[in-house]
Amino acid sequence: MPNAFTTRTDALFSQLRKDGLWKELQTIEGPMDAEITLIRNGKPQKVLCFCSNNYLGLANHPEVVEAGHKALRDYGAGTASVRFICGTFGPHWELEQRIARYMGTEASYSFVSAWTANEAVFPTLCEAGDMIISDELNHACIIDGIRLATTIKKGVHKAVYANNRLEGEKSLRAALEAARANKDVTGQIWVITDGVFSMEGSIADLPAMRKLCDEFNAMLVVDDSHGHGVMGKLGRGTHEHWGMVDGGSHLGRVDLFTGTLGKALGGGAGGFIAASQQVIDLIIQRGRPTLFSNALPVTIAASASKAIEITLREPQRVQRLKDNVQYARTKLKAAGFDVLPSPTAICPIIVHDTAKAIAMSKRLLDLGIFVIGFGYPVVPEGHARLRCQISAAHTTGHIDALVEALRKL
Ligand SMILES: *Cc1c(COP(=O)(O)O)cnc(C)c1O
Repeated sequence: MPNAFTTRTDALFSQLRKDGLWKELQTIEGPMDAEITLIRNGKPQKVLCFCSNNYLGLANHPEVVEAGHKALRDYGAGTASVRFICGTFGPHWELEQRIARYMGTEASYSFVSAWTANEAVFPTLCEAGDMIISDELNHACIIDGIRLATTIKKGVHKAVYANNRLEGEKSLRAALEAARANKDVTGQIWVITDGVFSMEGSIADLPAMRKLCDEFNAMLVVDDSHGHGVMGKLGRGTHEHWGMVDGGSHLGRVDLFTGTLGKALGGGAGGFIAASQQVIDLIIQRGRPTLFSNALPVTIAASASKAIEITLREPQRVQRLKDNVQYARTKLKAAGFDVLPSPTAICPIIVHDTAKAIAMSKRLLDLGIFVIGFGYPVVPEGHARLRCQISAAHTTGHIDALVEALRKL
């Protein structure tokens, strides 16, 4: 007899297929690059990839690949341990020192993913009486991290403000004022935002947020997963874009960063927290993902470390990405598409309906262009979009082909 789970899941699946919302996973043969080979219906098909976060084209860089090979030869697959027992290799410290220098913080600590890093932040750092204030469009792992913190630690409060709205109704200021007026909020106030909003391509106004946080003695946390390698002259992130790398500047500094190594910085996997030594020490002493889960594989630590080295050594890559983004936005606009102005590498084309977005991305694939349609539940109902992502690995010819295929739709 079918049980409750099978019955309801069968019903969900037939609904998804009926509504055209079923997601097919595409298989890639060979490395990630501007031009890749998909296996479709058992046959190889060459396509141009505009949906990877491989912003600097480092995923298949010979030095990044060799660094991973070398670490595998030198250290084997891993330690079969969590970091605090016997799970720390030299390349872990090297990576973490490099991340700290790259971000401009005292220290950093690596995780198997940015998801895990974000899940470590608030459940570890918050105590009863604290308040976490979050942008409504923050990444899913920030939302889940906050849910976890408020569930496992009684007396941790949360509030949400409208996307990027700093003043007025439903704003960050309103949430900060409400927190200060709340007699149960006796501890630290935390404000968290994405640096680059992954579905919009818009950025957070960090200097204004810093000012507000100073006014209310709040700590500012930024997840810049889509900003690393992209924003600022050296690709250090949204804080560099705003001129906030130097903590001595009048704009102040971000207190704590989270980020991924699975996008521009090598594309393998991994995440990090970059902050003061005190924050990192607390994460090492008390963070449940650090105490109970294995270290980042050493191959990835070495590859990501090399990717950061290349990013800083070759600012022309970051510039190339910026030039490509500028070119793509100009071309898309000229072809009549509604793209928001933004300094990021994310160019969403809004098509509203989820099924339509999925159908369009299927037709684009037939035309040799790989772009994914995003709909509910990744973005709100009615806000479905094709998200085009530009890379330094693209040529202007590739971008012309993207625009041409979109025009054909
Ligand atoms: C991609 C992304 C993550 C997840 O990164 P992983 O390392 O793949 O877990 C987290 N936060 C933001 C803002 C992201 O864009």
